[in-house]
Amino acid sequence: MSARGGGHPITVVYVMGESINAKHMSIFGYERETTPLMKKLSEKGDFYYTEGIAGGVCTIASSKFMANVIYEPNNGKLTNSCETSLCKLAKDNGFKVIYITSKFNKMITSVCNMSGKYMDVIETASTNKAHVERRKDDCILDLLDKQEFTDKNFIILHKRCAHTPYTAVFPEGYKNRTHFKNGKDKKVDEYDNAILYEDTWLYRVFNKFNRRTHGKFYIIYASDHNELLGENGLYSHGYLHPAVADIPVIVQSNDAEFMRKFKAIYKPTHYEISKMIAEVLGFQIKNPNEEKDVYYINGLDYNGRAGYIRLKKDIKNKKIEYELVN
Ligand SMILES: [Zn+2]
Repeated sequence: MSARGGGHPITVVYVMGESINAKHMSIFGYERETTPLMKKLSEKGDFYYTEGIAGGVCTIASSKFMANVIYEPNNGKLTNSCETSLCKLAKDNGFKVIYITSKFNKMITSVCNMSGKYMDVIETASTNKAHVERRKDDCILDLLDKQEFTDKNFIILHKRCAHTPYTAVFPEGYKNRTHFKNGKDKKVDEYDNAILYEDTWLYRVFNKFNRRTHGKFYIIYASDHNELLGENGLYSHGYLHPAVADIPVIVQSNDAEFMRKFKAIYKPTHYEISKMIAEVLGFQIKNPNEEKDVYYINGLDYNGRAGYIRLKKDIKNKKIEYELVN
């Protein structure tokens, strides 16, 4: 790992999504118009979306990989040490580190071990219980609006939508809870309404930061894992199947070089996404165990004890080979 300095104003926002299925987003070709606002943003040149690959099939395993730049299973030592924790790297390089989630306190250690030692601001559903119950993920936006930013900000927003039950993700008074109805599958209708809400929520976050004229901004959104809704007869998440790791990834930045590099990655994995984030925080990470075009999807245990999938990207033919390792 090597660090670089630099004193320019910079804001890096990592939105860790929850159970988002790209195939249910209209920007990825879904027939129902579930993401009209992302479509609107995509008309600008500095916006990019692609399908990526998660580092795990459940929230905890994935969050560890996402927030700690973990390459391989069975590397709990590195996760626990915080050596490559994005929060620690940011802190080491003078960033204000803000973590806001609609999940409970237990998630803090997945994102940054040592009880969030490297976070300057921690807001969770445990500390904002009544607020989160009423406002759901909008609580994250309310708390975000209260933050004071400095010249260097690293912000992790960790979401609850669209985890099952899909009907429980909406804030009080949200109008579009039943926008999609009478489809073939009630569960799909419910999920699509949750994605419509996700679109509104994301639009507000992107607009909050992409209007900043002060320095560089980077907004990176990636779901923690997929949520299957009947594809190949499969539902939900939490089991080792390549489809559970298919995720949407959305990025916007006014740093043209960053965007160029990001767009060049075929199906970015959590590891590659987090490495890109580490880079804008000022650090180059190279895990000595890296094999060219090989990445991993963890089972339920981030240490690999519940099995994992080893995948190899065939970049030339735009294909991915998966191997299940138990
Ligand atoms: Zn999750």
